[in-house]
Amino acid sequence: MQSRLAITGGVLVTEHGAVPGNLTVDESGRISAVLAEAVIPDAAEVVDATGLLVLPGVVDGHSHLNDPGYTDSEDFYTGTCGAAAGGVTTVIEHPLTDPLPDSLDVFLAKREIAGAKAVVDYALWAALTPDNVSYQGVKTRELARLAGAGAVAFKGFMTFTWEIPRLDDGLLMVAFRRVGELGLPIGVHSENGEVIRYLSEHLRASGREDPLSHGEARPEITEREAVARVLELSRGSEARVHLVHLSVPEAVDLVARARFEGRTVSAETCPHYLTLTEEALTRLGPYAKCNPPLRSSRCVEGMWQRLSLGRIDSVGSDHGPFTRQEKERDSFWDVPAGVTGIQVMLPLMVTECLRRGIPLESVVRLCSSNPARLFGLYPRKGVLAPGSDADLVLLDPREQWELTSGELFAKEKWTPHEGWRLTARVRRTIVRGQTVYVDGPGGGRICVEPGYGRFLRPGAGREEGSA
Ligand SMILES: [Zn+2]
Repeated sequence: MQSRLAITGGVLVTEHGAVPGNLTVDESGRISAVLAEAVIPDAAEVVDATGLLVLPGVVDGHSHLNDPGYTDSEDFYTGTCGAAAGGVTTVIEHPLTDPLPDSLDVFLAKREIAGAKAVVDYALWAALTPDNVSYQGVKTRELARLAGAGAVAFKGFMTFTWEIPRLDDGLLMVAFRRVGELGLPIGVHSENGEVIRYLSEHLRASGREDPLSHGEARPEITEREAVARVLELSRGSEARVHLVHLSVPEAVDLVARARFEGRTVSAETCPHYLTLTEEALTRLGPYAKCNPPLRSSRCVEGMWQRLSLGRIDSVGSDHGPFTRQEKERDSFWDVPAGVTGIQVMLPLMVTECLRRGIPLESVVRLCSSNPARLFGLYPRKGVLAPGSDADLVLLDPREQWELTSGELFAKEKWTPHEGWRLTARVRRTIVRGQTVYVDGPGGGRICVEPGYGRFLRPGAGREEGSA
């Protein structure tokens, strides 16, 4: 029988290895067969992937698209265009939008907004706030409603930030119990808020305005202590604890030890904690300010070592765009923390892993298969197998190119990796059998209309309205 689409001549890369082979896609946009290279499929459309790697699309478990509320710097259209151009076929968007998605009505409204604009598939985190966590809170019934509406995970903060009220230790412990009962992952921004507040006030009062003061106010101990506290406060609950954006190797070790003890815990890091040090803060100033801060080369090398040991479960972009105006505020202390990265994550990870002798299956595991598993989207996403969505990235592993911010689809075209030499380039991105992005001599282009992307629920991972 003729297939709708075939991808031929490429090397198929999964978390288990890389083999030359062909793929076919059926009318519903799912992979219908994975074939040996000698088997030439009969298909209505054939994409020649000779010389290219064919990977499952990236499932970015950590991105901020700022929509609704902060759309001067990004929205679901521009953010998912950047995703498509970076080989990200599923965006799992974090809940720092305004209004905060900590109740059903706000969550549903956000889902609508995303649904009208997204060009790749998407899932949504919900926010944990004192209002919906506390047994006495005014939104105490909302956690179950948010889960019912398809929230993929819940996220809370231990730090003081203007975007979301923090959870103190008591509320955190309650959150672990309550989210644990719902069976969904709980992600925690783990830094010690009190220590950071004290050190920041002290450094600021002493007149420090240089970029390195940001890291001094958030030393490694603030992450290690917070991760240790999370692991203690969640003990005895059924919570699936996901430690987001870890930057300190010893914090990763704490998570690994908890897993060794049989706990359901996971550790995420981000490309910038694997590729940039505090030197970038000195060089780029506000454009390298993020939380946790960029750290020493000791930390970066230690994170790679943990990654090689399999102690890191996933890599997420933590794409956190802000306008240049926001980034160039007078005082460094008032500059919002976040760096862009959704379009760059995959080429950067592939380049760095190849340079360090880490096989590409590790990239697939960290950026695609594991995040799909963590958020209940596997095996619909994150794997090249019959029945899975045909979400594919065609990557050219020989292309040497220099990253320039002009290539970015993001509303705010800046990247802390400006000028980096990369050795892997996204040639084409396919979501459910449909090409959403192609690279070309004049630059890449998006091939679908806003709204092509579908909402994904955890569990079967099927979109709204499907059987
Ligand atoms: Zn984040």
